[in-house]
Amino acid sequence: MLETLSQLNVLPRSLVVTEKAEFGLARTKAGLRLATWAKEADSPAFNGFEGERSEHAGGMLLLGPTNPHNAHGLRAHLPWLKPMTLGLRTSAGLGDRLGLATPGHVRAVRAVREHRDIAPIFAQQSIREMMRTGRSPQQVMDDATWGIFAEGWREGMGADADHLKTTADIDACVAAGFTFFTIDPGEYVNNSAETMTLADLCAAVDKLPSTLQYPISTRSVQSKSFDVEGYTITFDEHTLLKAAVKYGRAVAHVAAMYRRLMQATGGRNCELEVSVDETETPTSLAEHVYIASELRRLGVQWVSLAPRYIGRFEKGVDYIGDVATFEADFAVHAAIARQFGPYKLSLHSGSDKFSIYSVAARQTRGLVHLKTAGTSYLEALHTIAALDPALFREIYVFARERYEDDRASYHVSAQLSRAPLPQDVRDAELPNLLDQFDAREILHVTFGSVLTEHTADGRPRFYEHFMGLLRANSEAYAANLERHFLRHLRPFVETRQ
Ligand code: ZN
Repeated sequence: MLETLSQLNVLPRSLVVTEKAEFGLARTKAGLRLATWAKEADSPAFNGFEGERSEHAGGMLLLGPTNPHNAHGLRAHLPWLKPMTLGLRTSAGLGDRLGLATPGHVRAVRAVREHRDIAPIFAQQSIREMMRTGRSPQQVMDDATWGIFAEGWREGMGADADHLKTTADIDACVAAGFTFFTIDPGEYVNNSAETMTLADLCAAVDKLPSTLQYPISTRSVQSKSFDVEGYTITFDEHTLLKAAVKYGRAVAHVAAMYRRLMQATGGRNCELEVSVDETETPTSLAEHVYIASELRRLGVQWVSLAPRYIGRFEKGVDYIGDVATFEADFAVHAAIARQFGPYKLSLHSGSDKFSIYSVAARQTRGLVHLKTAGTSYLEALHTIAALDPALFREIYVFARERYEDDRASYHVSAQLSRAPLPQDVRDAELPNLLDQFDAREILHVTFGSVLTEHTADGRPRFYEHFMGLLRANSEAYAANLERHFLRHLRPFVETRQ
């Protein structure tokens, strides 16, 4: 019925036809509208929806806004739109700063799943990124809901409440229906342990939280050697104390966050990731064993862990470091994850790490989670650079002004002096800025400023224009995203494990 109502212009992949009702996403002059049709005016198909009703095709039609109320209603009617847990399946998180990227993400995932299963997370943002873009956990969730509905994705998705630091973060994301909770205890990691003397370490261990019931920190691993698939990891006194001082408080924080999560969800439909990726010094193999055995001892269950790997994982650019050295170290991390779990190893800041994807897929034997978010914004810029060079140029000039402030909480090494000057780049070459290392990082970390900058009279400086272009050219944006993420996902489904 809906598909025959040509004036509604329903997106073909969104159409859901059940025995009694039809649901779809209609393109109207006022933007996308939820369309629900049923023969009976009092059909339960209209429950939970708001909008305008009219008689259509021998039945009742409701056209409603794509607002939170209707997103909630739609998830109740079409259960495959609800987020789910993914367990140990190979998975990829495709975060979306703008709320418009999910259709392109779906297309990339759909294309690679013809080779091998990979479980997607389409709703994913860290609290930090939500703050910077002025979005709430519920908005992030709802934007993903509309995106998978538009594309007719019925294979399920995870929803990652990323880099949670406080119990209030947990509560907000549980309320919005997230299912994957990434706990970031980075603030509790004591990087100075690296250089402490044995005496300093002994003193510092005494100050660890009582919840760890010292000398616990030592109880589960003390004076032990672990054989991890033929690789020996030995805890001598110094190694053990350093691990405890460096990660003891972080472990205690994760355990407290985990208990809060269990309390808030009753343990239903949720899974945990632990991430220490945004810390100064790499997580040694022994420290990985310490973290895993201590979390287990404290009753924490988790599906994935993001150590801080060796080398540099900067935002939006390839891995910086020697790949062979990385592989040798990563292989043992993967073995530890099998033996002490099994759980997945998670690759944070995973965008554009093309040189290590096949290493990660092979060494983990598919027990791996890839996390990306920021380059979906860069693909939006890529789209805009071709559509409206003047707008893109203005954004680049502004991003250069903002970079030194905005880079503070990100791992980037771009230097303004190495990025091309705006006046030196011709319009036709503007998209190439996204391939230049420094310009790419500068554009990557300034998204929050670009999206929330206001003019002197209080109007958004870029936002409306930026989003309007992407909405009007949604196919171009989706095509760019699909191409970009095929390069990310293919190694994970094509590498022999
Ligand atoms: Zn991270």
